[in-house]
Amino acid sequence: MLIDKKLIIEAKEKLGLTAAIRIYDYFSLQNWDGKNLKGSCPFGHEDNTPSFIFNEKDNCFHCFSCGRNFGIIDLYMKQGLTYLESVEKLFDEVGINYKFGERGVKTKRDYKYPVIECSEDRTKVEEYFATRKISKETLDYCNIGQDKNGNIVWKFYDENDTLLTVKLRPSRKIEKGEEKKEWYLPNYDFSNILFNMNRADPSNGPLIITEGQSDTLSIIEAGYFNSVSVPGGSSNNKWIETCFDWLEQFNQIIIFSDSDEAGIKMRKEVVSRLGQWRCKYVEIPEEYITSDQIKDANAILYKYGKQVLLDLISNAQEMPIYGVSNLASIEDFDIEKASGIYSGIQSLDDIIYKFIFGNVLVVTGKRGEGKSSFVNQVLIGEGLNQGYDSFIFSGELSAPVLKSWLNVTIAGAEFVAMKNKFVHVINSDAKKKIESWYDNRIWIYDDKKSNSSEDILDKAIAVTRKYGVKIWILDNLLVMDIGAKDSDIYEKQKDFMTKLIGLADLYNVLIALIIHPRKGQNGIEVAADDVGGSGALTNLPQYVVSAKKFSEKEKEGIKDGKGGYKKNCEPIKEDVAINMLKNRYVGKTGEIRLYFDYRSRRFYTDAINLNKRYKWNDNKLPPFVYDPLADRLPDMMKD
Ligand SMILES: [Zn+2]
Repeated sequence: MLIDKKLIIEAKEKLGLTAAIRIYDYFSLQNWDGKNLKGSCPFGHEDNTPSFIFNEKDNCFHCFSCGRNFGIIDLYMKQGLTYLESVEKLFDEVGINYKFGERGVKTKRDYKYPVIECSEDRTKVEEYFATRKISKETLDYCNIGQDKNGNIVWKFYDENDTLLTVKLRPSRKIEKGEEKKEWYLPNYDFSNILFNMNRADPSNGPLIITEGQSDTLSIIEAGYFNSVSVPGGSSNNKWIETCFDWLEQFNQIIIFSDSDEAGIKMRKEVVSRLGQWRCKYVEIPEEYITSDQIKDANAILYKYGKQVLLDLISNAQEMPIYGVSNLASIEDFDIEKASGIYSGIQSLDDIIYKFIFGNVLVVTGKRGEGKSSFVNQVLIGEGLNQGYDSFIFSGELSAPVLKSWLNVTIAGAEFVAMKNKFVHVINSDAKKKIESWYDNRIWIYDDKKSNSSEDILDKAIAVTRKYGVKIWILDNLLVMDIGAKDSDIYEKQKDFMTKLIGLADLYNVLIALIIHPRKGQNGIEVAADDVGGSGALTNLPQYVVSAKKFSEKEKEGIKDGKGGYKKNCEPIKEDVAINMLKNRYVGKTGEIRLYFDYRSRRFYTDAINLNKRYKWNDNKLPPFVYDPLADRLPDMMKD
C-alpha cells in the first residue's frame, strides 16, 4: 500500500505547529524559544546557540549545526510505531479518512511467511552491538532480536508491515574466511526486500541505501532515520524489481555502498536503474580509509563517530554529469574486465572476443539470410546462458513464432524431433524446463498500437530499470517509426543511431539493431557501406556484422573444365558467412563460415559446438552426439 505523498504533506500542514510543540515536549528541548520555535539540538552535540529550528514550510525541525531533520512522523516512529502506523495516527489526528486495510495482510499465496520466537534475553546481541557503537535504543527501533542460540535476528518487513524475510547472524565478530556469515531463517521463504523499509518516509528527504543492515543501524544511530539496506549483499540487485514502485516514491536516493570494488560496481548498476537524476552517492574519503576495515558506514561510526558519518551523508556527491568525464579519473579500458557477451562460437569470439555492454551492434543481411536466427542464438540464447536478460522488439515476427524458434534454439537437437520436414516438436518436459528457465527474463514489446521508436525505447528503458535487462533487440529499423519523412530520412536515422548509442552507454546495455541492406544489390556481398540508409548507421555503432546465406550454386562451385574449380568459386561446405565488418574495440574484422542446422536452428562449426547444452538442462548424461554433417556427406560427394 503506497500512500500518496501529497496527502501526507497535507496532513503535516494541517497538524502545523502542534508538531513543533510535541517534539519540544518529547525531547524537553533546552534553550527553547517558543516564538521562533527553536531550541538546542537534542542529538547529543554541543549547541549553545540553539540550532534546532522548526521550518513551517516542511513542518519539520532542521538542525543547522549537525544537519539532522526531525518531523512528526519521525517522532511517532521514535516512539515505536512503523511508518504506516505513524501515518495512520497522523491522519486520524487531522481528520483525513484513509483505509489502511492492507496493513499486515499476507497476500502471497503459497508463501511460507517466516515465524520466529525471539528470546526475552537480548544480552548477547546488545553486547555485540555495543562493541560496534550501536545502542539498545537503535536495536529497539529496528526490531532487532536474539534467537535461542544467541544469534542476531534481522526482520525484514515490507511497506505494509508484513514480515517477509528473516535473516540471522552470529552475535560476534566474523572471522576472515568464516563461511556462515549470515543466513535466511531455514524452512521459510524469503523475499528480496529492503531492511527497514517499513520505517522509511518518502515525504522526508533522501533515502539512504546501504549494503548491510549494520550500516543502516549505524546511520540511524547517528540520527539519520531514512535508511534501508539491501537484502543479499552488493551483487544481488533483485530488490530493485521487488521494491520498484515503493522506491519510485523517493525524489532523492543516496547510495552508501562499501568503498571497495564490489561496492562501487553496485553503485554504478543501482544508479543506472534507479535513475541518475535522483541519485547521489557517499564516497568515503581516502584519508579516512586507514585500513581495509574502514570501508562502510559502521566502520565510520566506530572509528570517527556520529558527526563524521552525518557529514559524509550531507556531502553526498552528485553523480557525474552524463556526457562529460574527467579524463584523469577514467579507468583504463580493460577488455578482459569489461562485461559483455561471448557469442558461443569460437571462431567468432576469436574475432570479437565478446560484445561489450554499453555499445550498439548493427546486424545486417538480406531477408531470409539468417539474421534473426543469428541474434536468437548468439545474443538471446547465449545471453540467458551467461546470465543476461533480453528485451525484444520484433516488428515482423509474431511473438508466438519468435518464441517457438527461440525454444528450438535453446533446446538443441537433443530435444527436438522433426515431424515431416518442417515441424519442430520439442520434448514437452524440456519445453517446460526451458520456459521456467527464462520466465521473467525475456520481455517482448507487444503494444500493437505503436511502432514508434520512442515508445519502443521507453519500454526497453523500463525493463532495464526494473528488471535489469542487459540486451535490447530491435528487429528491425525498417518497421520502426523514427518519425522520418522522405525528405529527412537520413537525418532522422542519424538522430536515432545517436540516441541508441547514448542509451547503450547510459544503461550499460548491448543494443542490437537489425537493418536490411539497400535494395537492388542481390548477389553482392553485404559490406558496411551497403547497409540501407544513412552512413551514420554504420559509422556510429561500435559493431557491424552481416549474415549471408550461400546459394546452392555457390555451394556447388564453378568448374574450370580441367577437373578443378575456378578461383574463388570452389565449392562451399558451410551454409552462411558471418562477416564482422566493424569491431571498434579489438579492431579485428573478417569472415567466418558456419553451418546451419535446421532441426535446432543453430549455427555451428562442429558437432560439439552444435550440441552444446544450455544451463536450463541439468542433464549430467554423456554429451549428446548428433552430426548432421555426417548425413550430408553422400550429398556433397555426389559429384
Ligand atoms: Zn544537531
